[in-house]
Amino acid sequence: MRRLDKAFRAFFARIREGHVPGFPRFKGRGWFDTVEWPKDGDGCRWDSQPGHPTATFVRLQGIGHVRAHRHRPVRGRVKTISIKREGSRWYVILSCDDVPAETLPATGAAVGVDMGVASLVTTSDGDPLANPRHLEASAGRLAAAQRALACKKRGSKRRRKAVARVAALHAKVRRQRLDTAHKAALTLVRGYDVIVHEDLRIANMTRSAAGAIERPGRNVAAKSGLNRSILDAGWGVFLRVLAYKAESAGRELIAVDPRNTSRTCSRCGHCAKDNRLTQAEFACTTCGHTAHADVNAATNILRAGLVLRDAAEAA
Ligand SMILES: [Zn+2]
Repeated sequence: MRRLDKAFRAFFARIREGHVPGFPRFKGRGWFDTVEWPKDGDGCRWDSQPGHPTATFVRLQGIGHVRAHRHRPVRGRVKTISIKREGSRWYVILSCDDVPAETLPATGAAVGVDMGVASLVTTSDGDPLANPRHLEASAGRLAAAQRALACKKRGSKRRRKAVARVAALHAKVRRQRLDTAHKAALTLVRGYDVIVHEDLRIANMTRSAAGAIERPGRNVAAKSGLNRSILDAGWGVFLRVLAYKAESAGRELIAVDPRNTSRTCSRCGHCAKDNRLTQAEFACTTCGHTAHADVNAATNILRAGLVLRDAAEAA
Protein backbone atom coordinates (compact mmCIF):
# COMPACT_ATOMS: atom_id res chain seq x y z
CA MET A 1 0.00 0.00 0.00
CA ARG A 2 2.89 2.34 0.76
CA ARG A 3 4.37 1.70 -2.66
CA LEU A 4 1.00 2.23 -4.34
CA ASP A 5 0.52 5.46 -2.41
CA LYS A 6 3.96 6.67 -3.41
CA ALA A 7 3.33 5.87 -7.08
CA PHE A 8 0.01 7.76 -7.12
CA ARG A 9 1.36 10.72 -5.18
CA ALA A 10 4.16 11.07 -7.71
CA PHE A 11 1.63 10.67 -10.56
CA PHE A 12 -0.70 13.43 -9.28
CA ALA A 13 2.21 15.68 -8.40
CA ARG A 14 3.39 15.50 -11.99
CA ILE A 15 -0.14 16.24 -13.28
CA ARG A 16 -0.25 19.35 -11.08
CA GLU A 17 3.04 20.45 -12.57
CA GLY A 18 1.50 20.21 -16.02
CA HIS A 19 3.33 17.09 -17.20
CA VAL A 20 1.64 14.18 -18.95
CA PRO A 21 2.79 11.21 -16.86
CA GLY A 22 2.05 7.59 -17.63
CA PHE A 23 -0.61 6.02 -15.43
CA PRO A 24 0.99 3.88 -12.67
CA ARG A 25 0.95 0.36 -13.94
CA PHE A 26 -0.04 -2.76 -12.09
CA LYS A 27 2.80 -4.67 -10.50
CA GLY A 28 1.95 -8.20 -9.41
CA ARG A 29 3.32 -10.29 -6.58
CA GLY A 30 6.24 -11.49 -8.65
CA TRP A 31 7.50 -7.95 -9.14
CA PHE A 32 8.93 -7.23 -5.72
CA ASP A 33 11.36 -9.26 -3.65
CA THR A 34 11.47 -6.99 -0.62
CA VAL A 35 9.08 -5.39 1.77
CA GLU A 36 10.21 -2.64 4.12
CA TRP A 37 8.86 -1.36 7.38
CA PRO A 38 10.17 2.16 7.89
CA LYS A 39 10.05 2.03 11.67
CA ASP A 40 10.80 -0.75 14.15
CA GLY A 41 7.66 -1.37 16.20
CA ASP A 42 5.26 -0.15 13.50
CA GLY A 43 3.97 -3.33 11.87
CA CYS A 44 7.19 -5.15 12.52
CA ARG A 45 9.31 -5.83 15.58
CA TRP A 46 12.85 -7.12 15.76
CA ASP A 47 13.56 -9.53 18.63
CA SER A 48 9.87 -9.77 19.44
CA GLN A 49 10.40 -12.40 22.15
CA PRO A 50 13.47 -11.09 23.99
CA GLY A 51 13.07 -13.58 26.84
CA HIS A 52 13.37 -16.61 24.58
CA PRO A 53 16.35 -18.70 25.69
CA THR A 54 17.76 -19.83 22.37
CA ALA A 55 16.15 -18.27 19.31
CA THR A 56 15.53 -14.80 17.93
CA PHE A 57 12.14 -13.95 16.52
CA VAL A 58 10.91 -11.13 14.33
CA ARG A 59 7.23 -10.25 14.40
CA LEU A 60 5.65 -9.39 11.07
CA GLN A 61 2.24 -7.82 10.72
CA GLY A 62 -0.26 -10.34 9.39
CA ILE A 63 2.16 -13.24 9.74
CA GLY A 64 3.19 -13.42 13.37
CA HIS A 65 6.45 -14.38 15.01
CA VAL A 66 9.03 -15.76 12.60
CA ARG A 67 12.22 -17.32 13.79
CA ALA A 68 15.36 -15.65 12.46
CA HIS A 69 18.92 -16.89 12.41
CA ARG A 70 20.95 -14.14 14.05
CA HIS A 71 24.40 -14.61 12.50
CA ARG A 72 25.96 -11.72 14.40
CA PRO A 73 24.97 -9.38 17.22
CA VAL A 74 22.93 -6.29 16.35
CA ARG A 75 24.68 -3.07 17.30
CA GLY A 76 23.05 0.32 17.65
CA ARG A 77 19.31 0.97 17.60
CA VAL A 78 17.20 -0.82 14.99
CA LYS A 79 15.59 1.75 12.72
CA THR A 80 14.06 0.03 9.71
CA ILE A 81 13.36 -3.62 8.97
CA SER A 82 13.15 -5.23 5.54
CA ILE A 83 12.30 -8.74 4.52
CA LYS A 84 13.92 -9.97 1.35
CA ARG A 85 13.30 -13.03 -0.76
CA GLU A 86 16.23 -14.51 -2.67
CA GLY A 87 15.32 -17.71 -4.46
CA SER A 88 14.08 -20.00 -1.75
CA ARG A 89 15.82 -18.06 1.04
CA TRP A 90 14.42 -15.27 3.12
CA TYR A 91 16.44 -12.57 4.84
CA VAL A 92 15.76 -9.98 7.50
CA ILE A 93 17.69 -6.78 6.85
CA LEU A 94 18.08 -4.34 9.72
CA SER A 95 19.35 -0.81 9.38
CA CYS A 96 20.51 0.74 12.63
CA ASP A 97 21.13 4.17 14.08
CA ASP A 98 23.78 5.16 16.60
CA VAL A 99 26.10 2.31 15.72
CA PRO A 100 29.26 2.72 17.80
CA ALA A 101 32.39 3.19 15.67
CA GLU A 102 35.13 0.70 16.37
CA THR A 103 38.30 2.66 15.91
CA LEU A 104 41.42 0.54 15.71
CA PRO A 105 44.83 1.47 17.18
CA ALA A 106 47.18 3.30 14.80
CA THR A 107 49.78 1.17 13.05
CA GLY A 108 51.79 3.92 11.36
CA ALA A 109 51.71 2.04 8.06
CA ALA A 110 50.41 2.96 4.62
CA VAL A 111 49.62 0.64 1.75
CA GLY A 112 48.70 0.73 -1.92
CA VAL A 113 46.41 -1.91 -3.43
CA ASP A 114 46.20 -3.03 -7.03
CA MET A 115 43.04 -4.76 -8.16
CA GLY A 116 43.68 -7.52 -10.64
CA VAL A 117 42.61 -10.83 -12.05
CA ALA A 118 45.05 -13.42 -10.70
CA SER A 119 44.34 -12.14 -7.23
CA LEU A 120 41.52 -9.75 -6.50
CA VAL A 121 43.81 -7.37 -4.61
CA THR A 122 47.59 -7.21 -4.27
CA THR A 123 49.24 -4.90 -1.74
CA SER A 124 52.41 -2.87 -2.20
CA ASP A 125 53.94 -5.08 0.52
CA GLY A 126 53.56 -8.04 -1.82
CA ASP A 127 50.59 -9.83 -0.32
CA PRO A 128 48.06 -11.26 -2.74
CA LEU A 129 45.08 -10.76 -0.45
CA ALA A 130 42.21 -12.49 -2.12
CA ASN A 131 42.56 -15.22 -4.66
CA PRO A 132 39.08 -15.79 -6.00
CA ARG A 133 39.68 -19.27 -7.42
CA HIS A 134 36.37 -20.50 -6.08
CA LEU A 135 34.66 -17.86 -8.22
CA GLU A 136 36.08 -19.54 -11.31
CA ALA A 137 34.56 -22.88 -10.29
CA SER A 138 31.20 -21.23 -9.76
CA ALA A 139 31.52 -19.41 -13.08
CA GLY A 140 31.90 -22.76 -14.84
CA ARG A 141 28.83 -24.19 -13.17
CA LEU A 142 26.91 -21.00 -13.92
CA ALA A 143 27.80 -21.18 -17.59
CA ALA A 144 26.61 -24.80 -17.72
CA ALA A 145 23.36 -23.89 -16.00
CA GLN A 146 22.78 -21.06 -18.45
CA ARG A 147 23.34 -23.37 -21.41
CA ALA A 148 20.86 -25.83 -19.92
CA LEU A 149 18.34 -23.04 -19.46
CA ALA A 150 18.69 -21.88 -23.06
CA CYS A 151 17.27 -25.11 -24.48
CA LYS A 152 14.23 -25.41 -22.22
CA LYS A 153 10.78 -24.75 -23.65
CA ARG A 154 9.13 -21.52 -22.59
CA GLY A 155 6.48 -21.91 -19.93
CA SER A 156 7.58 -25.43 -19.02
CA LYS A 157 8.18 -26.83 -15.59
CA ARG A 158 11.76 -27.76 -16.48
CA ARG A 159 12.44 -24.24 -17.59
CA ARG A 160 11.20 -22.92 -14.25
CA LYS A 161 13.56 -25.31 -12.46
CA ALA A 162 16.46 -24.26 -14.69
CA VAL A 163 15.74 -20.58 -13.96
CA ALA A 164 15.81 -21.34 -10.23
CA ARG A 165 19.15 -23.12 -10.62
CA VAL A 166 20.73 -20.17 -12.45
CA ALA A 167 19.41 -17.79 -9.80
CA ALA A 168 20.78 -19.97 -6.99
CA LEU A 169 24.22 -20.04 -8.60
CA HIS A 170 24.19 -16.29 -9.07
CA ALA A 171 23.32 -15.93 -5.40
CA LYS A 172 26.19 -18.23 -4.44
CA VAL A 173 28.67 -16.21 -6.49
CA ARG A 174 27.35 -13.05 -4.85
CA ARG A 175 27.87 -14.50 -1.37
CA GLN A 176 31.35 -15.77 -2.19
CA ARG A 177 32.31 -12.39 -3.60
CA LEU A 178 31.06 -10.62 -0.52
CA ASP A 179 32.93 -13.02 1.76
CA THR A 180 36.17 -12.50 -0.17
CA ALA A 181 35.71 -8.74 -0.05
CA HIS A 182 35.09 -8.74 3.69
CA LYS A 183 38.18 -10.80 4.44
CA ALA A 184 40.50 -8.75 2.22
CA ALA A 185 39.14 -5.43 3.49
CA LEU A 186 39.44 -6.49 7.12
CA THR A 187 43.09 -7.48 6.66
CA LEU A 188 43.84 -4.06 5.17
CA VAL A 189 41.94 -2.07 7.77
CA ARG A 190 43.61 -3.93 10.63
CA GLY A 191 47.11 -3.50 9.26
CA TYR A 192 47.24 0.01 7.81
CA ASP A 193 46.32 3.60 8.72
CA VAL A 194 46.31 4.84 5.13
CA ILE A 195 44.98 2.74 2.24
CA VAL A 196 45.38 3.89 -1.36
CA HIS A 197 43.37 2.25 -4.13
CA GLU A 198 42.59 2.76 -7.81
CA ASP A 199 39.68 4.97 -8.68
CA LEU A 200 37.47 2.32 -10.23
CA ARG A 201 35.51 4.70 -12.45
CA ILE A 202 38.69 5.77 -14.21
CA ALA A 203 40.04 2.22 -14.23
CA ASN A 204 36.91 0.89 -15.93
CA MET A 205 37.02 3.67 -18.48
CA THR A 206 40.58 2.90 -19.53
CA ARG A 207 39.84 -0.81 -19.53
CA SER A 208 36.84 -0.56 -21.80
CA ALA A 209 38.30 2.05 -24.11
CA ALA A 210 41.82 0.74 -24.52
CA GLY A 211 41.84 -2.42 -22.46
CA ALA A 212 43.73 -4.53 -24.94
CA ILE A 213 46.52 -1.97 -25.18
CA GLU A 214 46.59 -0.77 -21.59
CA ARG A 215 46.59 -4.15 -19.89
CA PRO A 216 46.99 -6.95 -22.41
CA GLY A 217 47.43 -9.78 -19.91
CA ARG A 218 44.30 -8.99 -18.02
CA ASN A 219 41.98 -9.34 -20.94
CA VAL A 220 43.56 -12.59 -22.00
CA ALA A 221 43.22 -13.97 -18.49
CA ALA A 222 39.58 -13.03 -18.27
CA LYS A 223 38.56 -15.40 -21.00
CA SER A 224 34.82 -14.98 -21.14
CA GLY A 225 32.42 -12.16 -20.62
CA LEU A 226 31.03 -14.04 -17.66
CA ASN A 227 34.37 -14.15 -15.84
CA ARG A 228 34.83 -10.52 -16.75
CA SER A 229 31.57 -9.42 -15.18
CA ILE A 230 32.20 -11.49 -12.06
CA LEU A 231 35.56 -9.80 -11.57
CA ASP A 232 34.26 -6.31 -12.33
CA ALA A 233 31.53 -6.73 -9.74
CA GLY A 234 34.12 -8.13 -7.31
CA TRP A 235 36.18 -4.94 -7.39
CA GLY A 236 33.13 -2.77 -6.83
CA VAL A 237 31.93 -4.86 -3.89
CA PHE A 238 35.44 -4.88 -2.40
CA LEU A 239 35.73 -1.08 -2.55
CA ARG A 240 32.28 -0.62 -1.00
CA VAL A 241 33.09 -2.94 1.89
CA LEU A 242 36.51 -1.35 2.30
CA ALA A 243 34.99 2.15 2.41
CA TYR A 244 32.66 1.44 5.31
CA LYS A 245 35.16 -0.67 7.24
CA ALA A 246 37.74 2.13 6.90
CA GLU A 247 35.25 4.73 8.07
CA SER A 248 34.23 2.66 11.08
CA ALA A 249 37.86 1.99 12.03
CA GLY A 250 38.96 5.60 11.51
CA ARG A 251 41.28 4.78 8.60
CA GLU A 252 42.12 7.07 5.70
CA LEU A 253 41.13 5.92 2.21
CA ILE A 254 42.56 7.58 -0.91
CA ALA A 255 41.51 6.94 -4.53
CA VAL A 256 44.02 7.66 -7.27
CA ASP A 257 44.01 7.75 -11.06
CA PRO A 258 45.24 4.27 -12.08
CA ARG A 259 46.43 5.25 -15.55
CA ASN A 260 49.97 3.99 -16.29
CA THR A 261 50.39 2.46 -12.83
CA SER A 262 50.87 -0.97 -14.39
CA ARG A 263 53.57 0.05 -16.88
CA THR A 264 55.56 2.55 -14.84
CA CYS A 265 58.69 1.39 -13.01
CA SER A 266 58.24 1.84 -9.29
CA ARG A 267 61.98 2.43 -8.78
CA CYS A 268 63.02 4.87 -11.53
CA GLY A 269 59.66 6.05 -12.89
CA HIS A 270 60.33 4.98 -16.47
CA CYS A 271 56.98 4.47 -18.19
CA ALA A 272 56.77 2.11 -21.17
CA LYS A 273 54.54 -0.63 -22.47
CA ASP A 274 57.57 -2.95 -22.83
CA ASN A 275 58.16 -2.91 -19.07
CA ARG A 276 55.31 -5.31 -18.68
CA LEU A 277 56.58 -8.60 -20.08
CA THR A 278 53.73 -10.90 -19.14
CA GLN A 279 50.68 -10.82 -16.92
CA ALA A 280 52.76 -11.51 -13.81
CA GLU A 281 56.20 -10.08 -14.61
CA PHE A 282 57.49 -6.54 -14.58
CA ALA A 283 61.01 -5.72 -15.78
CA CYS A 284 62.11 -2.12 -16.29
CA THR A 285 63.84 -1.56 -19.64
CA THR A 286 65.87 1.36 -18.24
CA CYS A 287 67.08 0.45 -14.75
CA GLY A 288 66.53 -3.31 -14.82
CA HIS A 289 64.23 -3.34 -11.80
CA THR A 290 62.16 -6.52 -11.70
CA ALA A 291 59.12 -7.21 -9.59
CA HIS A 292 55.77 -8.93 -9.59
CA ALA A 293 53.67 -6.79 -11.91
CA ASP A 294 50.81 -6.33 -9.46
CA VAL A 295 53.16 -5.42 -6.60
CA ASN A 296 54.89 -2.88 -8.84
CA ALA A 297 51.52 -1.34 -9.72
CA ALA A 298 50.47 -1.29 -6.06
CA THR A 299 53.70 0.52 -5.15
CA ASN A 300 52.97 3.17 -7.81
CA ILE A 301 49.42 3.51 -6.48
CA LEU A 302 50.71 3.99 -2.93
CA ARG A 303 53.17 6.66 -4.08
CA ALA A 304 50.48 8.54 -6.05
CA GLY A 305 48.20 8.44 -3.02
CA LEU A 306 50.84 9.81 -0.66
CA VAL A 307 51.59 12.64 -3.13
CA LEU A 308 47.88 13.54 -3.20
CA ARG A 309 47.77 13.42 0.59
CA ASP A 310 50.81 15.71 1.00
CA ALA A 311 49.33 18.16 -1.52
CA ALA A 312 46.05 18.22 0.40
CA GLU A 313 47.86 18.85 3.68
CA ALA A 314 49.98 21.65 2.17
CA ALA A 315 46.90 23.41 0.74
ZN1 LIG B 1 63.21 1.43 -13.70
